[in-house]
Parts: sequence; C-alpha cells; structure tokens
Amino acid sequence: MIIVTRPDATEEDIDRIRERVEALGVRTHLSRGAHHCVIGCVGDEEPVAELPLRSMPGVEAVHPVMKPYKLAAREFVAEPTEIPLGDGVVGGSRFTVVAGPCSVEGREMLSATAKAVRDAGAHALRGGAFKPRTSPYSFRGLGMEGLELLAEVRREDGLPVVTEVMDTRQVEVVAEHADLLQIGARNMQNFALLSEVGRVQRPVLLKRGMSATVEDLVLAAEYVMRQGNTHVILCERGIRTFETATRNTMDLGAIPILKRETHLPVLADPSHAGGLRELVAPLGYGAAAAGADGLMVEVHPEPAAALSDGDQSLTFPGFRSFMEGLERFVVAAGRTLRDGVEHAAPPESEKAGAPATTA
Ligand code: PEP
Ligand code: MN
Repeated sequence: MIIVTRPDATEEDIDRIRERVEALGVRTHLSRGAHHCVIGCVGDEEPVAELPLRSMPGVEAVHPVMKPYKLAAREFVAEPTEIPLGDGVVGGSRFTVVAGPCSVEGREMLSATAKAVRDAGAHALRGGAFKPRTSPYSFRGLGMEGLELLAEVRREDGLPVVTEVMDTRQVEVVAEHADLLQIGARNMQNFALLSEVGRVQRPVLLKRGMSATVEDLVLAAEYVMRQGNTHVILCERGIRTFETATRNTMDLGAIPILKRETHLPVLADPSHAGGLRELVAPLGYGAAAAGADGLMVEVHPEPAAALSDGDQSLTFPGFRSFMEGLERFVVAAGRTLRDGVEHAAPPESEKAGAPATTA
C-alpha cells in the first residue's frame, strides 16, 4: 500500500501517519517528491487497510500496490531513482556508458583500455576479475590480482569501476575495490548472493538471467533492496530463445516495461545480447532509443587475442565511432552523453517511452 501526502502536509503530519502505520508492525519507506511525499508500507497490510488513513491530516490518497514487488515498484517512490557512480549519477539526464574488457587480463591492457574508453567519452570502466563462463574449463579470470589491477587503474584514470561478484565470500573484498557490484546473468537468482550484496553500501548492477522474465528480474532486485541496499541498477543483456543467429535475443521491449514498472535505472548490454561486434551499435542504439539509462559495452585492445568474448568486443577505434554514432540516439531520447550539456528537447510525443499514437 502507498500513502500519498498532500502538497501542504507538514513534517508532523508525515510523522504521525508513519507512527500510526508502524504501530501495527508494518515498515514504512518515505520518498520525497517536489509536491508530494509517498509513504510506502511493507508488511502485512490487512490491519493497515482498516485504519481511517484518508481522514488523517496531510493524506491525499491511499492506493493498494497489487504487484508482487513493492520497494522496486514505480508507485512506491515520488521520483525515479538516481544512483551515484563516480562524479555522476546513473538514471538522471545523463546517459551512462560503461565500457571495458570482458575480463581483466593484465595491467597494460586494462590501463590502455581505461584511457581509450575514457577519451572516447565512457563514464565507467568494466572488467571481470572473477568470471562466470559457459564452460567451467574456460579462463575464469585473474581473481584477486584482477581486482587489485582495477583499483590501481581507477586511482590512475579516475573512472569508477564495475566488476562482477560471484560468491558470497567475495562480496566484502569486491566492494572494497569496486564502485559498482555486478551480479551476472547466471547468478540473478542466487538468493544468498543477492542477500549479501543487499547488506553492503555499494550500488549493484543486476543483469537479467538468460531465462528470467521481467518480473523475475524485478523480484530479484526487490530481494536486494529488502536487505537495505536500495541502489540497484537493472540490466537487459539478452535472453535465450529459439533464435541461434545471435548469441542471445535482446529484449528491447523489456526496457520501457522496466522503466514503467520500476523506479530503478535500466542499462542494456548489447555485447552479450548480440555476441558479435557488428551488432553492438544497432542493438545499443536501439536500447538508447527505447529509453535505457545507459549501456555496458565490451572493448578490448586486441579482440582477436582476448581471453574471453573477443568476437563481441569493440576495438578502440570501433568504440570511438560507436560513441560518435550513439550521441544522436541519446539526444533524440531526451538525454545527454555529457553532464552539464543541454540539448534541445525533442517534442514530448517523440520521447522514448511516450505512448504510441495510432493513425
Ligand atoms: C559479463 O558481463 O562479462 C558477463 C559474463 O555477463 P552476463 O552475466 O550477462 O553473461
Ligand atoms: Mn563478457
């Protein structure tokens, strides 16, 4: 259930509403908007439904939330969530680009990639130190050494770093070295891991499982949020379908649905979705047009020699031209690639996510 306050509700009114609900053993969550506050109620709502809430001072409306998730639901907060990453935020007007190698393979390649992607306009560096692979016999990453390299390159280049955590025992150490903790597709429903990342103070990038529905993804995000960490970014990275022409099938429709159903930022990963270098731009641009808040893209100094995912990795010049082409789509979707740069807004009807007009 959510309680929406009136624009003239006082702090005392809000406190009194929350106390009344909490006295029934239900947790409340307060979200402040420009005109209204939203008080979300989590717990057994039956006794709360009996309260004469609508007649309490400061209450404008009371709505039931019929979804299986609450903390992640769009109705639950007054404004979409913005999540700090480095000097910027994910989910605001800036479109965020995370780029880097699939795996951290060594100091030189990581540092060269960080410079190349930063110079081309990326906002964060990705790189796997602990790698999940389709076959357990493939390269599994440099582990702790990879983490230290990421932290070292972050100190040098200033780009925040994103890396995957695969095991509950690694959460603390990965959180010490990285700015954003990636939960990979293969672990989206590893509830022990979700609960562990829910207890640290680092934002989480939650990738959609290859056979997970949109609702499964949001429920997994909800589970992280329930532990206290509400900084969750969702990532559409393609799902398994009967199609074999692409590595996965990029579910573009999931992007506007996730934006409508949740208040969390949504990134898309065209590298793992398509599995081929030439598909990164069309799928990435499509995701920007569909209203994504950003992209995660694999880039390698020498893709043919990469220890993982070389076929889908962009070269440095490839990434530069990818970024040049991206700007038009980002601007058309009403966003910007650089903080502080304003573009003329497109008409409301042409914005990503605007309802389609039928002739
Ligand atoms: C990755 O980002 O390199 C990765 C392994 O992604 P996913 O979990 O989406 O397969
Ligand atoms: Mn990869």
